[in-house]
Amino acid sequence: MKNITGFGKFVIYSRIALHVCIIYLFKVKPWQYPRFLRRAFILLMSFRHNAVVKVFNGYKLQLYLPAYPCRAFFYALDSKLLKTPPGPITIVFSMTKACSYKCPHCYQKKDGGPDLQEQKLIETLINVRDKGVAMFDIEGGEPFLRFERLLNLIKALDSRSEIWVNTTGMHVDKNNLTALQANGLFGLMISIHSPDRKIHDDFTGIAGSFETACQAIKLCKDLDLVVSINSVLAEQEINDGKLNDLMELAKSLKADFVQLIHPKPSGLWLDKSDHMQNDKSFITDVQQQHLLYNSKAKQFYPALAAQVFEERKTGFGCTAGAVDRFYVNATGEIQPCEFLNISFGNVNIEDFDVIYNRMRSYFNNPCQDWLCCTQAQSISEIIKKYELQATPLPWQYTQELIKTWDRGPQTPLYKKLGIYKK
Ligand code: SF4
Repeated sequence: MKNITGFGKFVIYSRIALHVCIIYLFKVKPWQYPRFLRRAFILLMSFRHNAVVKVFNGYKLQLYLPAYPCRAFFYALDSKLLKTPPGPITIVFSMTKACSYKCPHCYQKKDGGPDLQEQKLIETLINVRDKGVAMFDIEGGEPFLRFERLLNLIKALDSRSEIWVNTTGMHVDKNNLTALQANGLFGLMISIHSPDRKIHDDFTGIAGSFETACQAIKLCKDLDLVVSINSVLAEQEINDGKLNDLMELAKSLKADFVQLIHPKPSGLWLDKSDHMQNDKSFITDVQQQHLLYNSKAKQFYPALAAQVFEERKTGFGCTAGAVDRFYVNATGEIQPCEFLNISFGNVNIEDFDVIYNRMRSYFNNPCQDWLCCTQAQSISEIIKKYELQATPLPWQYTQELIKTWDRGPQTPLYKKLGIYKK
């Protein structure tokens, strides 16, 4: 497998640009067309640092942008460039808290309440899709533990959505993958937190979990499903050059992406401050690795999607609050991001639109600061102050808290796009 870089990438981008010009000529009012094209060009070029990954149904310019030329790709473009205010493109959507793993960094282990009723869950899924979300990352807990529920969710979506399932690999087998694929599954995100099997098994608290994850990847690739390895690789391991080992492992397993997730003070790690990879030079090094593993020199490796690169100040910044992404937890809480343990409301209590609009009115302008890093302490203080036993903070406390937040300067990329009024 070879990623597309250099001249090949230029050809793909030119093809997309031409295709977009033609399609939107009939979709956009003539006097709005030049402005639309300018915005589409800026958006397209914001992905230029990534290799193009060829997948079974087209080309991925970025992990969270649906593959071109699928319907979901254009649905994402409509959401971002035609809607006012612009819609989010992606969601992390939790369908159950059930999980037998004991990962110490879990952002939702302390969440309270029962899983949403299935009918409400599906209704919420459709509401999310109708807000413009084109890329679904359906997660748990462990989604494969409640397989019928997972299958019904996927059946409820259509080709406007690129559907991923986020899993440990546990309970994944050929039969259930085939059933999901027949109903529109695009790929799996499978967690491997170290290239060293013992370190990964110790981290998850489950002996054999490394092997389980590797087997799940192989099954996916046999079925031509797309795979991203999701990894919260420890600071020490990155310092020891283990990111290269992880990329070698991913290459040997024929994974398409490696998503390197920056550790977050959230959930079980809410009060954690050591080894959180906050050092500027450390982050710059990881950003360089991102560029390297998306270049011609590494075109036979999976593409690296380093969160600290995508969310850099000159990139997308913090995209929480449905700027680009948000989170629905298993109990129906609407959160700005999975790593922010605050809620704008619960769909069991209020209408989805009311909660969503409330969240959008707060995140009405994209900003640069990584709120998961800058505001964890303030969330923790509220939890302690009111002796709350579960996360996320209910809306009554969130409301009090966010008034005090500074989200940093406006994200330049969004300023340039001009899709936000403020
Ligand atoms: S809070 Fe913002 S910076 Fe942090 S992970 Fe979520 S979107 Fe990214």
